Amino acid sequence: MNRPHRAGRHFLQIPGPTNVPDRVLHAIAQPTIDHRGPDFAALTLDLLPAVGRMFGTAEPVIIYPSSGTGAWEAALVNVLSAGDRVLAFDHGHFAGLWHELAGRLGLASELVAGDWRRGVDPAVVHDRLSADRRHEIRAVMVVHNETSTGVASRIAEIRAAIDAAGHPALLLVDVISALGSIDYRHDEWGVDVTVGGSQKGLMLPPGLGFNAVSAKALDAAARGGGPRSYFDWAPIIAANRSGSYPYTPATNLLFGLRESIAMLESETLSAVFARHRRHGEATRAAVHAWGLEVLCHDEREYSPALTAVVMPEGHDADAVRSVILERFDMSLGAGLGRLTGRVFRIGHLGDLNDLMLAGTLCGVEMGLTLASTPIAPGGVLAALGRLGTQTP
Ligand SMILES: *Cc1c(COP(=O)(O)O)cnc(C)c1O
Repeated sequence: MNRPHRAGRHFLQIPGPTNVPDRVLHAIAQPTIDHRGPDFAALTLDLLPAVGRMFGTAEPVIIYPSSGTGAWEAALVNVLSAGDRVLAFDHGHFAGLWHELAGRLGLASELVAGDWRRGVDPAVVHDRLSADRRHEIRAVMVVHNETSTGVASRIAEIRAAIDAAGHPALLLVDVISALGSIDYRHDEWGVDVTVGGSQKGLMLPPGLGFNAVSAKALDAAARGGGPRSYFDWAPIIAANRSGSYPYTPATNLLFGLRESIAMLESETLSAVFARHRRHGEATRAAVHAWGLEVLCHDEREYSPALTAVVMPEGHDADAVRSVILERFDMSLGAGLGRLTGRVFRIGHLGDLNDLMLAGTLCGVEMGLTLASTPIAPGGVLAALGRLGTQTP
């Protein structure tokens, strides 16, 4: 590692991990404490209801020392067992990965055909469940904010579709890249298990996974589920009652979590969500002014957290990303799976203000030009027009 020092801050504009604010870094840097002592118990007892507010739930939230993928697995093994039928929807890379994980756990997971430029269609959910007269489908798995495409599915409408079909399937939702950046209501929307992660909207480093669980999910877990040990909700919920864990928790990340929730709540969640929506609008204004396409095809489903930009035919998104990294020290998200090379993703979630977004879009515009992408100038100006005229 003999690279010369680069002045200024790296721009980490991938859609997660996101920029970790200094306040959170400082909180994490406190001395580790005894996880069986009174200070830790007080921390947990304060933290659990606060985490619940992030999910819009008064039900239990289990916090794992794991990546989001671990929390995906936890959601499945607690309520489902080998051979159970589940539905997943092919509308992006992460939805497909969760489906594959379900298959490896022995679940009979069906990947319903979909469109990577749209979210999960509530009408398709309704038709699939209505056709399942014997109620063999045990769960429906939906990624709320599909981080590979910048498309946010309409969870409340999907819930309504399940209810309209009169079907008892559990609704499992991945909010790993939506939590803390897009409005979400676990209780109000009747979600059974919501899966979260720390390193995106919550502005923390990677390392925490979450399951918010409904009474119906807890009941399914008590009566069945798959073989499980580390991920079993029951011993964790029992230990949490006295503020502890059945294993050594990620103490310092929990210090960080307490701080990040304090920051989000002092800004207020509604202002946080509005900020992300504005940043999404400003970014799309830039993309359209450049004459490029936003991958998401349905304006009801534009993600407030990230924007995937489609490259013109014959131009490589990864070439643009590497010019931008080399020249401007900014990381952008790559196209994943079938989108490799075809799109790049601008993350605008987490600890981001108007000038950081403006700087990000400047880097993208200059990088597109340096990589000889045919664009119209003026994307940044279009974005500034949005940012400078709208009240936050
Ligand atoms: C990041 C992400 C994941 C994977 O989380 P890891 O922490 O990398 O395991 C899953 N789903 C979505 C929607 C994501 O954005």
